[in-house]
Amino acid sequence: MAGTRYLLEVNPEIPPRLARLEELANNLWYSWDRPTRALFSRLHPALWRAVNHSPKAFLKRIDQKRLKEAAEDPIFLGTMNKVLSAYDTYAQMHTQITLPGKQPLVHTDQIAYFCAEFGFHESLPIYSGGLGILAGDHCKAASDLRLPFIAVGLLYRQGYFTQTIDRDGRQDAHYADNDFDDMPIAPVLRADGSDLRVSTHLPGRPVWIKVWQAQVGHATLYLLDTDLPENTEHDRNIAHRLYGGDRTTRIEQEIVLGMGGVKALAEMGIQPSVWHINEGHAAFLILERIRGFVTSGMPFTAALEIVACNTVFTTHTPVPAGHDHFDEGTVRRYFEECCAEMGCDVDGLLALGRIDNQRDFNMTALALRGSRYHNGVSRIHGDVSARICAELWPQVEPAENPMDYVTNGVHVPSFLATDWYETFDRHLGLGWMHRLTDHGCWQGIHRIPDQVFWSIRQSLKAQMLHLVRARVREQHTRNHGSEAHLDRLLRFADPASPTVLTIGFARRFATYKRATLLFKNLEWLRQILGDNERPVLFIFAGKAHPADEPGQAMMREIQAVASRPEFEGRILLLEGYDLHLSRRLVSGVDVWLNNPIYPLEASGTSGMKAAINGALNLSVLDGWWGEAYDGANGWGIKPVADALDPGQRDAEESRTLYELLQDSVVPLYYRNTSLGYSPDWVAMAKRSIATIMPRFNMERMLKEYVEKFYAPASTHWRKVAADDFAGMRQLADWKGKVRAAWSGIKLRRVDSPVARVRYGETVRIEIAVQLNGLRPDDLTVELVFNRPNERNPIRANRFRLQQHQALANGEHLYVRDLTPEQCGKLEYRVRAHPTHPLFTHPLEMGMMAWL
Ligand SMILES: *Cc1c(COP(=O)(O)O)cnc(C)c1O
Repeated sequence: MAGTRYLLEVNPEIPPRLARLEELANNLWYSWDRPTRALFSRLHPALWRAVNHSPKAFLKRIDQKRLKEAAEDPIFLGTMNKVLSAYDTYAQMHTQITLPGKQPLVHTDQIAYFCAEFGFHESLPIYSGGLGILAGDHCKAASDLRLPFIAVGLLYRQGYFTQTIDRDGRQDAHYADNDFDDMPIAPVLRADGSDLRVSTHLPGRPVWIKVWQAQVGHATLYLLDTDLPENTEHDRNIAHRLYGGDRTTRIEQEIVLGMGGVKALAEMGIQPSVWHINEGHAAFLILERIRGFVTSGMPFTAALEIVACNTVFTTHTPVPAGHDHFDEGTVRRYFEECCAEMGCDVDGLLALGRIDNQRDFNMTALALRGSRYHNGVSRIHGDVSARICAELWPQVEPAENPMDYVTNGVHVPSFLATDWYETFDRHLGLGWMHRLTDHGCWQGIHRIPDQVFWSIRQSLKAQMLHLVRARVREQHTRNHGSEAHLDRLLRFADPASPTVLTIGFARRFATYKRATLLFKNLEWLRQILGDNERPVLFIFAGKAHPADEPGQAMMREIQAVASRPEFEGRILLLEGYDLHLSRRLVSGVDVWLNNPIYPLEASGTSGMKAAINGALNLSVLDGWWGEAYDGANGWGIKPVADALDPGQRDAEESRTLYELLQDSVVPLYYRNTSLGYSPDWVAMAKRSIATIMPRFNMERMLKEYVEKFYAPASTHWRKVAADDFAGMRQLADWKGKVRAAWSGIKLRRVDSPVARVRYGETVRIEIAVQLNGLRPDDLTVELVFNRPNERNPIRANRFRLQQHQALANGEHLYVRDLTPEQCGKLEYRVRAHPTHPLFTHPLEMGMMAWL
């Protein structure tokens, strides 16, 4: 059409009585408070869906007449007041929840949490998958616990894509600009009312960053935006898409996030006592902090020491190739102009990111060198990470290097269906939401009558099937399918009779997650699914990264199998996986399937969401499930760790999967159908909730972070900051001296070893150590005891030797009188490692000398 196009949006006037709806719309509290969302939805359900459940967009578009009616409607007002009173109670609850740990946080402490993505709710689309949802949950739980907590991320213009799938299973990725006005965010303003802006350095130019904030209950999320007129066209697009663009975009995004984020906090006067790098993308924050200390006169080595001592780094990637890295040339180009301000040359800077003698700059290596608290996200992943990162502590065994683990959890209010609340109130007692980590409380689940439990499950399944039908219908119509065909597709997905055993598989289509493992043996699968007395419905959903061709091929394969006549209606592939669909699927399916390649699922969280809702997990014993599975709370697929090739591994693991489905899952679900429900199934589902809920929730996870990292790091920070970091300067110098001397440290046994003593007798151990110029108390000399052939000798007993006297030639004698407390054959070794009172981990230098 000819002519200029003008846009005009007409916003309603919110009646005074409903004014506080705007407050609710501007606090992400709604992302975990379902009654708040239900309040908006009931005002206008169709509009609520149309604005993708965004309260802010909703209030801008809703009809004036509808608002007027609501302002006069006593029922609506009553519901609103209930929601507001819960909101006010949450806001006002000042009672400091007692945090665990010997050295609790104090009110001046501040935790700053950096991540490249945050998944709170579908109305703030700046997440792609598990990492983002975990980060969102972390913030929500920090608010619940009233931690002094802020988060920093990027504000993407387009976020991640929305997905449609065509009739051949081909994914189409659609990108639409986010309208920041519709999102629950607001610009951070200076005192004079202008937007807060900071700049950071890119080659030959500054890039300007505008800072936005989102309220997450008590916590604040700051989001960085480069789409500003004062930036070049190129720089305006840096934060265009999450995980979009090329390597240049990626390094620029990470510079904006890490370095720009630090500057933004400084500009706002925020002085964190702990910095948490959640996955390597944000590790450049280390460099910006170093720059800060160096420009105020600190030498580089001391600055690195200071920065590291209150930095926490969490890795989520179990394969070295998955760690974010940049080629050397790129890093040179981006940092050669500014590294002088960091007190080092560009080669010194490159060395911070080097691992395995590769020339690439590895963000994980930088994060590890710039932090003293490191962790993986499950027990298995902690061990894997300790091995992958072993080179950082070359003389220390991976089993005792500083790589720790904290197993992930999920934010229960965000993912637990409200249908459970009343029943939990009745059978667990009011206040169960405040006893999430109390195992005893969750034993109460067994008091829920079986029929009640089953009927809640069926009702959740019906709600899910309702959504599934709508999605399939929409997808089918767009792909020009016929009505008759649609009926065949939906014959088992019937909300009116949700009796079909339903199994869900929804997550990113990354190849290691093996979405198509189920199709290894189609004839066997046909026998399992095709029994019309005991039908089974499989629901698949998920996105593949647009550049991930093998991931997209898996989707086409699912669609191809789903289209075969024998599987029609029994396998569905849904488009548009997001938090909304995820919440419905995890609460509605009977079984949650996960079959990644061991040990590549660092933790996984969707199975936890399913479990807390009473669904049963059928999963490879990897990630969190390796810890949660107890033999009777779901089903475990043992990974074939020593398979000769991937084909053999997949064949064996898929056989286990078929056998479990055929012999356990399907018969258990359909047992005793005459009762109208399966008592054995209910028993297993109850056990699953009782064992998983108290352990795999965010509150437990966050308390562990506080206890292991946040509180000790803050305490340490207060101590080292008190003397203007003089101690840390000395520590840096001391470490230099120790490194130079270490190869000359030699141990020699002075006493004659005895091989047999009587119980109660004492032996005196005497070790002479060549100190090579170090002082006697620069080292710990210790005996490490274990039983012969013990599998994990390192976790054995250790006994420290005392400094005794100087010997000739620079040697020093250390002694220990030892009275063994156990009888039997013992084995011991003697070793020495550097020691300093300002260490955060006893082996942080990665050095060890053995006799
Ligand atoms: C929980 C969740 C994930 C993570 O799923 P995993 O199976 O742990 O990979 C991804 N996307 C969405 C939308 C989720 O809610």
